[in-house]
Amino acid sequence: MKSSVEETLLAAIRTIPDYPKPGILFRDITTLLGNARAFRRAVDELVHPWAGSKVDKIAGIEARGFILGGAIAHQLSAGFIPIRKKGKLPHDTVRVAYSLEYGIDEMEMHKDAVKPGERVILVDDLIATGGTAEGATKLLKQMGAEILSACFVVDLPDLGGRRKIEALGVPVRTLIAFEGH
Ligand code: AMP
Repeated sequence: MKSSVEETLLAAIRTIPDYPKPGILFRDITTLLGNARAFRRAVDELVHPWAGSKVDKIAGIEARGFILGGAIAHQLSAGFIPIRKKGKLPHDTVRVAYSLEYGIDEMEMHKDAVKPGERVILVDDLIATGGTAEGATKLLKQMGAEILSACFVVDLPDLGGRRKIEALGVPVRTLIAFEGH
């Protein structure tokens, strides 16, 4: 039987067929964020394994990773690092290309956002192919961060993202999964 946390989160996510293009089932977490109980449970579950450990920073991936990551950082008394699409950050940055379903894009992080050896948790709402999280992992490692874990509310296991991130030596944690893509 599913745990009540899993049931709460599954029920709170809305699925939009054919968005942003035909054949994609878009897992919309805005309904989860708008549901006080579900939002709190998702954040509590992601925080739980780290209660009492030293976590220096949470790195959130634009844009939904900012919402979850900010709440998690607050709970763990950690700092927050925004990982953004290129051209949005005002100071000196490191940049990496990452693969999207069709083609590539680039993401950036401020060079001084993390110090070598700092203990960081990476956060986004969902992992699909893992291309986005792989890019973020590379940026953090390039600046010397120790990545404790990459955490997501939703896993799309058929797309293999978890394996891609674990192959980089980063443990992955997800709360719920949907078959297909
Ligand atoms: P990927 O790089 O393939 O792992 O894709 C992950 C990023 O794309 C995350 O930031 C997600 O928010 C978004 N994403 C990919 N597929 C979906 C989907 N089916 N539903 C909602 N968001 C998605």
